[in-house]
Amino acid sequence: MNKTIAIVEDDPSIAAVILRTLEEHGYLTEHYSSGSSFLTALRKKAPCLCLLDLGLPDIDGIGLLGSIKEIASIPVIILSGRHHPSDRIVGLELGADDYVVKPFDPREVVARIRTVLRRFDAATLAPDMQNSVATFSGWLFDPSALELTAPDGSATDLSSAEARLLQAFLEAPQRVLSRDFLLTKAGGQECFDRSIDVRMSRLRKKLQKGENIKGLIRTVYGAGYLLSCAVEWQSA
Ligand code: CA
Repeated sequence: MNKTIAIVEDDPSIAAVILRTLEEHGYLTEHYSSGSSFLTALRKKAPCLCLLDLGLPDIDGIGLLGSIKEIASIPVIILSGRHHPSDRIVGLELGADDYVVKPFDPREVVARIRTVLRRFDAATLAPDMQNSVATFSGWLFDPSALELTAPDGSATDLSSAEARLLQAFLEAPQRVLSRDFLLTKAGGQECFDRSIDVRMSRLRKKLQKGENIKGLIRTVYGAGYLLSCAVEWQSA
C-alpha cells in the first residue's frame, strides 16, 4: 500500500531532501518544479497527497491551491518560506490541510503527511456515519477514529482500507457479500491495496482477539464472505 506523494517545489535542493526522506519512509514520489506541470499531471492521475510550495515561478501558490482542489479531492500541505500569518490563514481557508514553514525538518513533514492522510481517509470513509459507532458480538467499531475495540476493551487501529472493508460488512450483516461487491464498496482510492483477500486476512487477524470471534466473518465458498453476527449502529 505505497502511497504516492507529489512534491511541487522549484528549489531542487529542498525537493531532493523531501523526496529522499519520503522514499525512506516507503512513499512513492512525484516531483514537479512548476505549477503548470503539476496541473497537467493531476488531470490524468491524482496522487494521494500534494506538498505544495507557495513560491513557484509560474503560478501564484494560492491560486494553484484553488485549481488543485477544483481538479481533485486530495489533501494538500503547504510548504512556505513566507512567515506572514496571513498566508497561513488564507491557505487554510482556501482548503489547505496543513502548513509547514521553511526551513523544516523533513521528518516533521512525514509526520504531518501521516496525520493529514489519516484524517482525510477517516473523513472520506463514510461521511454519513461520522458520528456513529457500530457494536457487534462484543466489539465496537468507530469509523471516525478508524478504531476497533475488542470485547476485552483493547483497541486496535485499522488502516483506512481495512476500515472500509469492515464497514461494508457492518452495513450488511448476515448477508453474503461477493468479492466484486467488496472491491467496489471497499476499494476506495486506487492507492489502496486492491486485493480483497489480502485485506480480508488482515482484518480477520485483527478480529481474532475475542473467544467468540471464530468464524465471525465466514467464507462462503464460491460466493464471497458473510458477517455472521447482528450489528447495531448508534450515535457516538
Ligand atoms: Ca519556491
